[in-house]
Amino acid sequence: MTAAAPMTNLLNLTRSELEAFVVDALKQPRFRADQLWHWLWRRGARDISEMTNLSKDLKGKLAECAVIGLPAVDVVRTSRDGTIKLLLRLADGERVETVLIPMGEHYTQCLSTQVGCAMACTFCSTGELGFTRNMTMGEILGQVLVGRAHLAQVGLGALKNVVFMGMGEPLMNLTELLRALATLGNVEGLSIASRRSTVSSVGIPHSLKILGDSGLAVPAISLHAPTQELREKLMPKAARVPLDELLACLDAYPLKQRERVTYEYIMLGGVNDSIQHAKQLVRLLGQRRCKVNLIGYNPPPPEIAPNPPYRAPDPAAVLAFQEYLRSKRITTFLRRSMGQDIAAACGQLKLLEG
Ligand code: SF4
Repeated sequence: MTAAAPMTNLLNLTRSELEAFVVDALKQPRFRADQLWHWLWRRGARDISEMTNLSKDLKGKLAECAVIGLPAVDVVRTSRDGTIKLLLRLADGERVETVLIPMGEHYTQCLSTQVGCAMACTFCSTGELGFTRNMTMGEILGQVLVGRAHLAQVGLGALKNVVFMGMGEPLMNLTELLRALATLGNVEGLSIASRRSTVSSVGIPHSLKILGDSGLAVPAISLHAPTQELREKLMPKAARVPLDELLACLDAYPLKQRERVTYEYIMLGGVNDSIQHAKQLVRLLGQRRCKVNLIGYNPPPPEIAPNPPYRAPDPAAVLAFQEYLRSKRITTFLRRSMGQDIAAACGQLKLLEG
């Protein structure tokens, strides 16, 4: 007896791959790919049977060899500030988290790209999980489909922006990330333009070069320390790339008009939040075309970490730090930590309900 051929997850196919699948494997005319694409990415179909304008014959053929492999929503938690965290189960039972963050009338979705993470940054709950596997394009974008559907179901605002800032280091999953970014921007589908997609990374030069050449997203670099020495303590794996090499790579990043590289700086109480550190950061970033996002560290809830390794910064220290950077003409924003009470804030994603 021969083993059954594996089912194709339609969400794993880029626009051109879907067309090849429809024409070559299903022996259907090209326009059927347009219809399928519309059902998958515009209408958010959950089952092939919903695709009412496809012939019965085609739906039958599809049902024999393909599925719409959406992640299952296991748990939904809503923060007092309106942030929503979805705990998702993938087809093989692995679980990841995605977060919907209210931004005025609209939402920004924080997406995971890996199950766990290999980078082991010392302040990050995800890093403690270790690395399990990369997510596929269909799994990465499946988060957007279920996130969008959840917002519509509960009558909230539309999803406008995405940030690849959830579980995992996106540039360690570069192939699937690039496929996901290209699909996100497809105007017949999700239509989330490159200026609305931010890829957050610790900074991997050769992958940043490829991302830059693709023109598909702007990077936000997890800097978190103003010196190589301190970065080695906070992010030992990421700091294997020396800071001067990383910054040289970012200086060469092809930016469109009005785009800037963002540097993320998580403020850890008593560790990297003094004026001395602010001065070092000014020396490092100097005249670069950039902006800095300051994020106050969120100690994980006690059920995750009874003895967190760091403490939250003193609010006065954060303000003084920001003021100093601004006085030196570095555009600096204070990012409000959202979803702290449901462990959805930066560095807190750790499969709490798992
Ligand atoms: S901060 Fe990002 S790169 Fe570092 S361990 Fe956490 S998820 Fe991984």
